[in-house]
Amino acid sequence: MVIVRTIEELQEAKKVLLGSIGFVPTMGALHHGHLSLIRQARKENEHLVVSIFVNPTQFLEGEDLDSYPRKDEADIKICELAGVDILFMPTIDQMYERDELCIGAPAIKGYVLEGEKRPGHFDGMLQVVMKLLNLSGASRAYFGKKDAQQLALIMQMVKNYFMDVEIIPCEIVRDDNGLALSSRNIYLDADEKQRALALSRSLKRATKLVMAGELNVEAIKKVMLNVLKDADEVEYVAIVDREFNALKEVEIGNTIILVAAWVGKPRLIDNLWI
Ligand code: AMP
Repeated sequence: MVIVRTIEELQEAKKVLLGSIGFVPTMGALHHGHLSLIRQARKENEHLVVSIFVNPTQFLEGEDLDSYPRKDEADIKICELAGVDILFMPTIDQMYERDELCIGAPAIKGYVLEGEKRPGHFDGMLQVVMKLLNLSGASRAYFGKKDAQQLALIMQMVKNYFMDVEIIPCEIVRDDNGLALSSRNIYLDADEKQRALALSRSLKRATKLVMAGELNVEAIKKVMLNVLKDADEVEYVAIVDREFNALKEVEIGNTIILVAAWVGKPRLIDNLWI
């Protein structure tokens, strides 16, 4: 594995890669969720590029940019063991200049749910993902369904900008208790970790209701909100179609149920595709 920190080093390292490139962009503090993307990309491509970059433009004022977990040494080991060919760990200066051309998230899909609660977040996310996809030269790039709205917007960006890369959605990885893995879970103490299970439990309850024939969105949300009482503050519970339009009734095969809530220090998100 080669570790590269500049654009020039990356371009140089890519020259010896002759077959298909799979790419997994991350912000580091790698866990089994990231690892599942990395393993899938390893299997499906001749070469594998991973990036670790805590992108400042997708953090809002007052968010955890400065305290975002950084574990470079452990991450390098994990990537090495997982068979990564190139690990790209750029500095902010390598990625940005002062007066940048910007990409904007779409007016509707980009400004509901996460986009409403974190205005500007998706602009910064799309900006860095566009840069990273272009730099990686990947034919396939792997993203987790954990960040469902992010995934939908990246797919739209690739479509709208005619980018020559296939976006591969990957399943959510959870711990044994059902908590969706996240780099921010390290902020949770034991009690908060228990209470954080309310997110996945609320989604499980929703599935049970749907399986029992309950399709009414308001009725499902009511039950979910009751389960979510263990969280400190619920930001949203939403039931939308795959284009993030609000639904009145669950459409089997075209629905995502999403939840965002604060538990202790971190704001957690989770979702379920039905
Ligand atoms: P991050 O480092 O949080 O920006 O995440 C990098 C990639 O890993 C994104 O595509 C995430 O959606 C994905 N990811 C993060 N957590 C999980 C998880 N628990 N299961 C599957 N994918 C995940």
